[in-house]
Amino acid sequence: MSETPNYRPETLAVRAGQERSQFGEHAEALYLTSSFVFGSAAQAAKRFSGEEEGNVYARFSNPTVSMFEERLAALEGAEDCVATASGMAAIMALCLAHLKQGDHIVASNSLFGATVQLFSNILSRTGITTTFVSHTDPAAWEAAIRPETRLFFLETPSNPLTEIADIRALSAIAHARCILVAVDNCFCTPILQKPLEMGADLVVHSATKYIDGQGRVLGGAVCGPKKLTEEVFKYLRTAGPTLSAFNAWVLLKGLETLKIRIEAQAANATRLAHWLEAHPKVARVFYPGLPSHPQYALAQTQQASGGAIVSFEVKGAREQAWTVVDNCRLLSITANLGDTKTTITHPASTTHGRISPEARAAAGINEGLLRIAVGLEAVEDLQADLERGLSLLGG
Ligand SMILES: *Cc1c(COP(=O)(O)O)cnc(C)c1O
Repeated sequence: MSETPNYRPETLAVRAGQERSQFGEHAEALYLTSSFVFGSAAQAAKRFSGEEEGNVYARFSNPTVSMFEERLAALEGAEDCVATASGMAAIMALCLAHLKQGDHIVASNSLFGATVQLFSNILSRTGITTTFVSHTDPAAWEAAIRPETRLFFLETPSNPLTEIADIRALSAIAHARCILVAVDNCFCTPILQKPLEMGADLVVHSATKYIDGQGRVLGGAVCGPKKLTEEVFKYLRTAGPTLSAFNAWVLLKGLETLKIRIEAQAANATRLAHWLEAHPKVARVFYPGLPSHPQYALAQTQQASGGAIVSFEVKGAREQAWTVVDNCRLLSITANLGDTKTTITHPASTTHGRISPEARAAAGINEGLLRIAVGLEAVEDLQADLERGLSLLGG
């Protein structure tokens, strides 16, 4: 189904992108092959030069990967999508495809931990510099712009504090200066949020999270107009962080259930967030679906629901937070998120542990903070599991 007329997301998620082979298989085929055979020397030459479309070598393209790319592009409302080996590979590919020595990035100060490391410690070695600014203050982004600024990079809601960046406002500021806007849409997925419709130029994904949704494989993607993704493709086919065919096949199947999973997980998260907010041992809850969230109104204008990530601060510090974690028997103690199995993590000592304490404090991630990525279990069972640790806390 390479034509995707006005189908709704549910339909696109199971139908878009499928290319059947001569065998007429109903499910998407997994093409485990590293290279492709040509009919003649002349055809080989044409494929290599790009004069004839078609597969050459799996670092460039593979039919299973192409099906995944087409399906995700359809869901994001993007002209094109380029799949990568992981979410970090997608961010690196986006940056190296579009930036060069001397260029400057303005980025949110509450990005995923590895993204901060990538910008501050790896891209900086190539002479690409980054200024981190308040996630929620568009004026700070504008003030950080320099003549050499080429990219705004944001992630919304942010990890782990679920702060909302105003995609429309930041896109307007950037576009007035011909700056590209890239949004990491990992937390919401295209089911809950469509950044391209709000003005962003590019969307990046860690497909490892909700798109797989069952904690099996790593993957990533960059979606956007072909004139921008083409540069990402050129980088990938040369540098090599391509998505494997097997992982693409798993991710294709993940997309088929994405909508029902994320909607059910978000409904669970909403109930859990309300319960935590009323809990005497909890100091504060961060969830965009709660009216008490400082950006509740903005969240309503850009995402279909609060999503499935809930963070909260216990009354106390690291010791109290670790007590809650260590008393969990059901919730998995793991930094992964987006799984059908609920996970719990202490950001200050795990995902954000390599960031300096000062930078962590500036980002608002304190020692009492816990992040829960809500899965598909019964909310009552999740509550009982958290209550075991919470009930042990003093105060
Ligand atoms: C996990 C994650 C990434 C990195 O993705 P990987 O697939 O682990 O490389 C990037 N951004 C966000 C928001 C994430 O949660």
